[in-house]
Amino acid sequence: MKITFMGAADTVTGSRFLLEHGDHRLLVDCGLFQGGPEAASFNREALPFSPGTLDAVLVTHGHIDHSGFLPGLVANGYRGPIYTTPATAELCGILLPDSARLQNEHFGYLERHGLSTPGHEPLYSEEDAERTLELFESRPMHRSFPVSSSVSAQFLPAGHILGAASLYLQVGDHRICFSGDLGRPVDPIMQPPEPFAGADYLLVESTYGTRQHPPTDPALTLEQLVNETANRGGTVVIPAFAVGRAQSLLHLLAKATAAGRIPDLPVFLDSPMAINATKLFCRYPEAHRLNSDECEQMCDRAHYTRKVQDSKQIFTHSGAKIIIAASGMATGGRVLHHLKRYLPDPRNTLLIVGYQAPNTLGAKLQAGTRDVQILGQDVTVEAQVATIEGLSAHADQTELTAWLLGADPPRQTFVIHGEAEARRGFADHITRSLNWNTACPEKGQTIELE
Ligand SMILES: [Zn+2]
Repeated sequence: MKITFMGAADTVTGSRFLLEHGDHRLLVDCGLFQGGPEAASFNREALPFSPGTLDAVLVTHGHIDHSGFLPGLVANGYRGPIYTTPATAELCGILLPDSARLQNEHFGYLERHGLSTPGHEPLYSEEDAERTLELFESRPMHRSFPVSSSVSAQFLPAGHILGAASLYLQVGDHRICFSGDLGRPVDPIMQPPEPFAGADYLLVESTYGTRQHPPTDPALTLEQLVNETANRGGTVVIPAFAVGRAQSLLHLLAKATAAGRIPDLPVFLDSPMAINATKLFCRYPEAHRLNSDECEQMCDRAHYTRKVQDSKQIFTHSGAKIIIAASGMATGGRVLHHLKRYLPDPRNTLLIVGYQAPNTLGAKLQAGTRDVQILGQDVTVEAQVATIEGLSAHADQTELTAWLLGADPPRQTFVIHGEAEARRGFADHITRSLNWNTACPEKGQTIELE
């Protein structure tokens, strides 16, 4: 049996792992690379296998860096099953067509403004995304199911976002665990991840592998920043992944408003994807920690702007307000238009609530860059730029280590899904503190599993 690390090796994005066993071939996750020109070129690299030869694809969760290239796989001939949890299948039903739409809209905008360059065409069409959705076969958490004659699989809850799972594969005599993205035990809306349940080989994520989340309550920081901005009559712009942080923010804002700790400002959820994902929470009560009242309050807190013309009208609401819009790292989507409008005004606040991959606009703004280009226009940042760390959907070093201690050491632990320093730092930490065998495979590397 061998495994090829096609992505999420010295990057956080582009999760794709090819597992080969005899004549069988499986792909675990099929994500997009995100952030900067290097990621864009990775997305256009030829695949090291013919998609038609895969037996099955398994997906740990709906985020685009784990699922966003599925339509590309289908466009290149894949017709087999895509196994994932029911909530992830529904989220992909929202995210994949929108990913196609977003790419096409963005490309159209660039073309109209004479900014398009060859090689930046959309990676796939909305039809490819729709055809992909027909291949989904959802499987509930905890229940083992056959994938092929010699492989069975099981999903266990990983926290992180709705439907997110760790994946355990039994391949012949070997058990392999893919941690997937692991959430925090103290997430405001998600249940804690189920600890590592043991395997011969483990692939563990390391997004925050060398960092600790601050002990401060993120809700308090959020309330303070909203109040400060409201007192200035400003607008809070929050780039957020459509799934996960957008809902955590709505929940915290709904709670704070109900308790009178922040004024009853208009909150615009300016992302059709985020709107649909928010409604999904009420349909999967077992997949998160909100009760039905909290779920309803979360859904009712925002004005939903689905249409582009409604999005363009948001600025006509004078006075203090909050805008939550995708994409989470400001690499595309409607948030770019809001940043272009609101960053030059010192009354406003840009609030960063999630991980920002290097070279993304979000990372540049977070680092304090004053002069940026947005949608082909020079923008000088005068707005306050603030970060709330504790709202991350990823476990920190202590939380990741606690997750590992759920079972005996595997024969080998592959540390993945982290920038170079976080990944190697976390591998060192595991080796030193737990005495586990670790490795940090390179992108494109194939390793034989004995
Ligand atoms: Zn994720």
